[in-house]
Amino acid sequence: MTKPAAAMQLEAQPPDGGTAQASAGEVEQQLLRIRRIGKRLFDVADCVIAFGQIPPEPSNGTSHPGSAIADFCHRQSLSDVPVVVVDTCNHPLLARDRAVLDAPHIRFYAAHPVRNQEQGLVGRICLIDHVPRADFGQAERQLLADLASLVERELLVRSMSASHLDLQKKNKNLRRKSLIDPLIGTWNRGAIMRILTIEAIRCDKAGAPLSLIVADLDYFKRINDTYGHQAGDTVLVKVASRLRSCIRPQEALGRYGGEEFLIVLPGASSATAMAVAERMRQAVASQPETIGGTTFNLTISAGVASTDMFPTATTEELISRADVALYAAKDAGRNRIVKAAPELS
Ligand code: GH3
Ligand code: MG
Ligand code: MG
Repeated sequence: MTKPAAAMQLEAQPPDGGTAQASAGEVEQQLLRIRRIGKRLFDVADCVIAFGQIPPEPSNGTSHPGSAIADFCHRQSLSDVPVVVVDTCNHPLLARDRAVLDAPHIRFYAAHPVRNQEQGLVGRICLIDHVPRADFGQAERQLLADLASLVERELLVRSMSASHLDLQKKNKNLRRKSLIDPLIGTWNRGAIMRILTIEAIRCDKAGAPLSLIVADLDYFKRINDTYGHQAGDTVLVKVASRLRSCIRPQEALGRYGGEEFLIVLPGASSATAMAVAERMRQAVASQPETIGGTTFNLTISAGVASTDMFPTATTEELISRADVALYAAKDAGRNRIVKAAPELS
């Protein structure tokens, strides 16, 4: 697929293209803030947000991966209810944990469950200290529950930003699909017309010429009538591929009608456009196409119109000039190129 500057403009992202990614990073920052608040609020050695039983990736910022405290938090089974252990040395299981027996000598542990949108248990927010606590009262439990709900809100933002990103990708794909001809994979009529309009404005501003070619398969109906529509479809795909091989990246090939192509050549003089059209004619006629054991001798006819010859013409007028030239090529026997000129009408 050729991609002129105008084509890139057609596919350009909407201005809010980076929002979703920015919010994902913002969520991680927000989780770090919640941890800092928890640490100061409860005056503990650490506040850890642990998801699942496996330590998260180093980059996500929700804990210190690999640190003994984070590993301890991840080792604890996910609990549906808050857990408060004011002194781990008096707890039947935790007293035997390596992070309690050895460094960092965890003595206090409190955790509140964190749920996702569907109320599924996904993690917990944990408070860790190196000294035991006399008490962890109702007010403190409530504060820890409040922090957990802040974490839950951030998870919601993260999942919304992920779906936003997903939607944006789907949108971009849909948009691209809406510009491409599904059979031959070139720009469709709407897209090539928009490319023509954009390039005409660009060339006009730059004082550069703009040329276009309207190319049509000769006697295509016969192929359909003799070998069937499907063979005709394959011929169209093959011809499009040969035409595509004749143009440069800044030029564009589109399907203008059934077996008619529009080629937009920004910056090309009429002499250059005639040379491109001749290359296309030869690319189609030089070698037969073999499809399913049948050999097809294919030819095209084309009309070429350029702002060189019609400096004040609108894009529609240019197309209609090229069309007139195309019909002159057909009348003259096909398999030829005709340049649009004022006297041809
Ligand atoms: P000419 O040399 O004068 O152009 O003759 P032609 O037979 O190519 O022209 P005509 O306009 O009579 O026929 C064009 C045919 O293209 C008729 C139509 O059924 C066929 N066609 C249009 N779109 C498609 C397509 O997508 N697939 C196939 N297989 N045929 C198509
Ligand atoms: Mg035809
Ligand atoms: Mg036709």
